Amino acid sequence: MKPTRRAFLGAVPALPLAAGGRAPHPEHARVQSSFDPWVELNAANVRHNVAEIARLTKRPILAVIKNNGYGAGVVEIARVLEPLDAIHGYAVVKIDEAVRLRDAGLRKPLLLMGPFDDRQLQNLAARDVMPMIYRQPGKELEAAAGALNRPVKVHVCIDTGLGRVGVPYRDAAAFVSDLQRRSAAALDGVMMTFTEDPEFDREQLARFTSLCDSLAAAGPRIGSRHAASSFTLFQGSQGAGGLKPFLLDMVRPGMAIFGVYSELPFRTAGVLDLRPAIALRTRVVYVKRLPKGESAGYNRAYVAPRDMWVATLPVGHADGVPRVLAKGAKVRIGGTLYPIVASVSASHMIVEIGPADGGQPHVNVGDPVTIFDWQDGSRPEDISAACGASVYDLLMHLNPALPRTVS
Ligand SMILES: *Cc1c(COP(=O)(O)O)cnc(C)c1O
Repeated sequence: MKPTRRAFLGAVPALPLAAGGRAPHPEHARVQSSFDPWVELNAANVRHNVAEIARLTKRPILAVIKNNGYGAGVVEIARVLEPLDAIHGYAVVKIDEAVRLRDAGLRKPLLLMGPFDDRQLQNLAARDVMPMIYRQPGKELEAAAGALNRPVKVHVCIDTGLGRVGVPYRDAAAFVSDLQRRSAAALDGVMMTFTEDPEFDREQLARFTSLCDSLAAAGPRIGSRHAASSFTLFQGSQGAGGLKPFLLDMVRPGMAIFGVYSELPFRTAGVLDLRPAIALRTRVVYVKRLPKGESAGYNRAYVAPRDMWVATLPVGHADGVPRVLAKGAKVRIGGTLYPIVASVSASHMIVEIGPADGGQPHVNVGDPVTIFDWQDGSRPEDISAACGASVYDLLMHLNPALPRTVS
């Protein structure tokens, strides 16, 4: 079989080799092969999802774009969101992502939900990054406010039952009033996270709203109250009281912006009509005939049941593809879904592309391959349903070194 060389092979970027064979590579610019897997962000689908969330909630959206924008690229997703009126601002977890967003010129309010050192407060405030706090900052807070000649905006995180971070709700009134006595701090918001146990979420909300009511009654402003992530929105108005009390002043979804339902029943519930916005693609790197009884993969995990065509894809778990995809997931090549066989190794996967009964294979070297995207059958939820992968693992583990494109 002669693999056809496709036109794309003509467009391979030149390796930056200098005369004499020395490679000058000062900027660590990535050298890519056209076979390398890449991540695509669909901007139109993101805009559609934001409009859907705004329609349902009628609240400003604090877009959670942590973990490299759920795999899409943190700067790439923020650039799509920045012009949208429904987007109030962004929330990230890693301080590096907060700094990168500001250095890339993104201007909307930005909340850092992850850890920082008090010594970094001045740097954060200078970039207009609001830290989420649940311990009293040290005297660096006063130093930062003094240097910038304005109070440092913060959001206080309250633990109403998740038990992860946050001021325990019983201690929160004292914490907030201590903070409000420090003129170096400006309280811009108070927040909590639900456990996503529908019954207990109601109890958590009651703890939070009663705290917020007593803080508001005490005088100084507490800023925006926010708690609802995608799960709360997906649930819609199920249960007593409906959705509205959970929305508070602002909503804080992540996954929904990327158009992915965390659980399959949410997709058909009709509460939010979302379109997936992230794709992972690569190109077929090799096609071969596997005679009956020959094997493929470590431990001979696949044995050809008859003479078969198989294709090798240059993408694996080191790129972020969960290993469980070999347990039933299918990839799309030229409009057809083909099963992943054997196992997902670090940099390769093998797909079965049909019996080899004399003719040529239907797949060629260089053909684009979709691991997941927004088409039915290839949506992240379709992949997870087929093999038991978590949609969060599918997106958030995408290797940050993979190229990102926006379509
Ligand atoms: C990740 C995260 C969110 C968003 O969660 P989704 O399930 O993706 O909507 C909201 N709040 C906090 C504190 C988070 O860590």
